[in-house]
Amino acid sequence: MGTPRVGILAVQGDVREHVAILQTLGAQAVLIRRPAEVEPIDGLIIPGGESTVMDKLVRAFDLQEPLRKRIEQGMPVFGSCAGMIMLADRISDGAAGQQTLGGLDITVRRNAFGRQVDSFETELDFAGLARPVHAVFIRAPWVEQVGDDVQVLARVGEGPAAGKIVAVRQGGLLATSFHPEVGTDRRIHAEFVKIVSSQA
Ligand code: GLN
Repeated sequence: MGTPRVGILAVQGDVREHVAILQTLGAQAVLIRRPAEVEPIDGLIIPGGESTVMDKLVRAFDLQEPLRKRIEQGMPVFGSCAGMIMLADRISDGAAGQQTLGGLDITVRRNAFGRQVDSFETELDFAGLARPVHAVFIRAPWVEQVGDDVQVLARVGEGPAAGKIVAVRQGGLLATSFHPEVGTDRRIHAEFVKIVSSQA
């Protein structure tokens, strides 16, 4: 097959970092801001940012319906941080009226790590990767509950949040509480591009 076309939801959040990484991995990065841009992509990244704002803009730009449709049809999506929230079927303590795109059978808790430690970095064992991942968490969610079809890829190893689920996969849907686009480790993006390529 040709070069996989990976969209990046570009209504709000840290879009540029993902574009740069995708290009180094040989994927074509396409910014998604309009409904017509959703159809031609093979996969999508939903970046970190602020899920309440992202949700409002997704609806204002008429992107909710076409994105939900592609997700239901099986398009691979990688969501990081706010992107994980956008992919979750359920949010605990979301903002009033907050909606998600859904698809991933999980319940997430927004800003779960609390005010004292709302940003931190740690090493995580990650299923399928030989060396630990250096994970950067910024006002991150964690996953409170997963459905039967969801594979847990990583949990916090130590500290007050030890054991909390911070990376999951369900079919072509991949989500991390942390920001793999920060730093130089491209393994998680590489995994995602592999998923997209295998389904494109
Ligand atoms: N706290 C943000 C939210 O609720 C997520 C933070 C992030 O993406 N870095 O959307």
